Amino acid sequence: MEYNAFLIKYAEIGIKGKNRHLFEDALIKQIKFALDKVGEFVVRKEQGRIFVEAEGSFDYEETIEALGCVFGISAICPVVKAESCEWEQLVKLVCDYVEHAYGDKPFTFKVMARRANKNYPKTSVEIAADMGEQILLHFPNTKVDVHTPEVMLHVELRTQVYVYSVEIPGPGGMPVGTNGKAMLLLSGGIDSPVAGYMISKRGVYLDAVYFHAPPYTSERAKEKVVDLARLVSKYSGPIHLHIVNFTDIQLAIYEKCPHDELTIIMRRYMMRIAEHLAKENHCQALITGESIGQVASQTMQSLVATNAVCTMPAFRPLIGFDKQEIVDISEKIDTYETSILPYEDCCTIFVAKHPVTKPKVSAIEHSERKLCEVIDELMEKALDSIETMVVK
Ligand code: ATP
Ligand code: MG
Repeated sequence: MEYNAFLIKYAEIGIKGKNRHLFEDALIKQIKFALDKVGEFVVRKEQGRIFVEAEGSFDYEETIEALGCVFGISAICPVVKAESCEWEQLVKLVCDYVEHAYGDKPFTFKVMARRANKNYPKTSVEIAADMGEQILLHFPNTKVDVHTPEVMLHVELRTQVYVYSVEIPGPGGMPVGTNGKAMLLLSGGIDSPVAGYMISKRGVYLDAVYFHAPPYTSERAKEKVVDLARLVSKYSGPIHLHIVNFTDIQLAIYEKCPHDELTIIMRRYMMRIAEHLAKENHCQALITGESIGQVASQTMQSLVATNAVCTMPAFRPLIGFDKQEIVDISEKIDTYETSILPYEDCCTIFVAKHPVTKPKVSAIEHSERKLCEVIDELMEKALDSIETMVVK
């Protein structure tokens, strides 16, 4: 006995009223995309449910892992599917299923039967009662509990027969593609991949931008960011990653501006370039991994000064999170081990010993005027030399 299909449960899509089919279709598209590498499956919609049916052999663990990365799925139920069958065959199918899923473990259960095929000689109430009796007979360690069963055994008679009882939690959220596109400022740290994951989880396509500063940052630091983008793309789908050479802008800031303001001014130029790229690539918002007070450049005043250069909304999904909470998510989504690899990032090289923690926008603007002779040309050069790759 093998599982040969999966019933996909979805949560929030269910409340979308008239637009529901758009969300279901987006979910089906993402499921097909996720399973493309795993094997051959048919994904279809039937009466408010999505079924994934295997067309040939497949790896069970790999399939569950792939489905576990599809936003919009609240639970995955492995199903045994068979051709419509006589009562004796149905009993055998269900008993084989119970044997396969639970062996001789003791458990309480309830049978939930559904009969979409109204020609079947028993009603759904009769199927549930008679099947319950058969299970008790075959598995003496089991007991019926109709109020709080440990196992809810579903038997559904449609054009075919479906048996399932196990629910594996999915990632939740909304299918990617249902909520526009945003530009993620992706560094090699712990926070920004988590921020990208969280916004993508709400159905948003991601583009990403990374600022590197060769030779102060290495090729390996850049590869680490590509690796992080690839890990996030397991959930978000393919990411267009734009790599900006930021060295000359950083050097100019270092040369001309007060050193205690370096980080803030640098962050403001990152945001300006990111917004420019976002507009060029049809993104409606920016995403960063900032959290109030985490470092000097993320105090309330620093965030205000950084944000002041953007007209687009900048989403900061981690804004109220403690570091440990962010680490917990990065471990869950498997970016943590890559994030902590010890490759320098461009911010750490040009940091001041005592950065301002309460910058005033007017003072920062005043300092930035010192760049006025060179900055337009440097910005143009940076934008002209962007390297873009598709990461998946
Ligand atoms: P992270 O862990 O995401 O690197 P951080 O705690 O190191 O964050 P900062 O270095 O202050 O914080 O950066 C704040 C945010 O700015 C990052 O979360 C990221 O969105 C963006 N950012 C910082 N450096 C870069 C970079 N080199 N390229 C792209 N985005 C960056
Ligand atoms: Mg960082």
